[in-house]
Parts: sequence; C-alpha cells; structure tokens
Amino acid sequence: MSEVLESTIRFPYKRSLGPVIGAFMNGLAEQRFVGIRCGDRVLCPPLEWDPETGQDLAHDALVDVGPAGTVESWNWVGTPTEQHPLDQPFAFALIRLDGADTSLVHVVDAGSIDAMSTGMRVAPRWRAERTGHITDVEAFVPGEDEVRVDGGGPDEPVTMMDYNAAITYRTPVTQNTLRADAATEEGRFLGLRCPECGRTYTGGKGYCPIDAIELTVDHEVDLPQTGVVTNYTIITPIQYPGQTETDPFERVHVLLDGSDVILGYQALVDVPNDQVRIGMRVSAVWASEGEKGGGTGGWQTTSNLIGWMPTGEPDVEDPDLVNRIN
Ligand SMILES: [Zn+2]
Repeated sequence: MSEVLESTIRFPYKRSLGPVIGAFMNGLAEQRFVGIRCGDRVLCPPLEWDPETGQDLAHDALVDVGPAGTVESWNWVGTPTEQHPLDQPFAFALIRLDGADTSLVHVVDAGSIDAMSTGMRVAPRWRAERTGHITDVEAFVPGEDEVRVDGGGPDEPVTMMDYNAAITYRTPVTQNTLRADAATEEGRFLGLRCPECGRTYTGGKGYCPIDAIELTVDHEVDLPQTGVVTNYTIITPIQYPGQTETDPFERVHVLLDGSDVILGYQALVDVPNDQVRIGMRVSAVWASEGEKGGGTGGWQTTSNLIGWMPTGEPDVEDPDLVNRIN
C-alpha cells in the first residue's frame, strides 16, 4: 500500500484590463467578440499596440468579429484535470474568428477526437450567466451556429480580472515515512541504519544513498533524544497571510548523539535569541496529550515535537560542528 500526499500552492492576483482588453472582456459579457484594426489586419484578441512595430493602435478602431470561426490547430486533452475548463475530454484550439487575421486560444467541445480536424468550422456556446471573462464562452462547438442562452451579464463594466493560478504536487509517501510519523506520535525518533556503511538516516525515501540499498523495517533503530546544536539562524518574520510569528525567533540544527542524524530548522524552547550558540547541548521536548498537533518542531507542522531545551551540560567544543548542517 502506498499513500500520496497532495499539496496545492495557489497564487491569486488581480490585473487591470485597460481600454482594449477591457472592451474585449465586456464584449464577451454581451456575447460579442471584439477585435482591433491594425493597418489592414484585424487582431482578435485585440492588443493595445501593433505587435510588429510597437505603435499604439487607435482605441476607436475596435470592430466586431465572429462569432463563428475556423480551427487553425488543436491539441486533444483526453484526461482533464480539475483546473481544465471542461470535465469531459476536449480540444484546446487556435481559432481564427471570421473577420479576424489572428487566432485566439479556446476550447472545442467536440465530443471525441475523431470529430476534430484542422480547418473545421466552430461557433461559441455562451454561458447563460456572464462575468466579462474569457470563460463567458463555455466552449466552441462544431458548426456555424452559436448557442445562446441569455441569463445576463455583470451590472457594471468589468475593469479588473481575478487570476487564480495554482499548482498541485502529488508526492508518494513511503512506509518508512509513515512509521517515522507514527513514532513521533509516541515521542520517539525513528532512524534507519545501513547494514553496509553503518550510517544512520532519518526521513528520506528508505534507502542508503551511499550504497543504494533499500532500508526496511528490519533496519529501524530508535534515535537518541539528546544532541548538540551545530548551527542556527535568527529569523525575522515577514507578515504574510498565515504567519503566526510576530517577533524574531531562532531555528537550530541538532546533531543527535551517537548518530549522523541532523534535524534541521528545529525550534528551541525558552532560550532567548541572544543565548543561542553552536555547541549547546539540548534534549527533545514532546507535546503532552492535550498539546498534540500544535508543534512547531520542524518542517512537519503536524509534528508532535515542540522543540529542544538546553540540558545544562557544558557546551561541546568542536570547531567542525558548524559545518554539520545535513
Ligand atoms: Zn550505506
């Protein structure tokens, strides 16, 4: 059995449309395609400048084009993702609308790849409720006839556009990782010791990167709960959404005793920033039952590890410690 961790990063932002793209978007809300004259050509989607010379184009040179057009090239999407505009297989296509000399990218809902061809005629299927966005055309469909169901457009002309870019990663989670997570729930660090080289690892994908052999449950060892600070950084928090820190705080690298395992970016408990130092002896502090799930002990914010507390023992004097960061 393998599990998958899914993480999504979103980048929402707004852009202003301006007089030309704005005219195009508001035209869509009225179920019209707006192009712009550029010399003896018509550009659709319209641009504010001649793409060849960079000269401003007259904003009163807007003209209606379409609604039908011709597919100039296309690419079939057989397995749409949640970010695609249609949830059944469709084509992305470059479509040159009648009366235009350039093409726009949109989707063709043709039902099957066999219904697609370069040079085919298509017409828009408009959404009933329109917002002044390119998706006011739900899709193009084969044929000459546009599909209109009029439910209306926005109350005011649109001047801004929301842009919601996002990317989703799917990362396989190994059995080693699952067992290591379960161990931290019990207040233990689980390591993997390579039978060839004797090195001990934690995390990772379950193999020795030196000997390229798989490490399994048979190679698991409990790691010490004490170690030494090899390096640290004082972080001044930037106030982005979701940031919970307000004051500068420290993060340290901890080399576990008698092992090669370095735990990076660990929190210290009750140590003022000006007292953090390389060589400090520390021991792990785990959440009590009531505190579980709120730890800030490392990258994994679900970790049961709250952080590290000085043991009070004398510092380790080793000039090489500072180089031990992974
Ligand atoms: Zn090894």
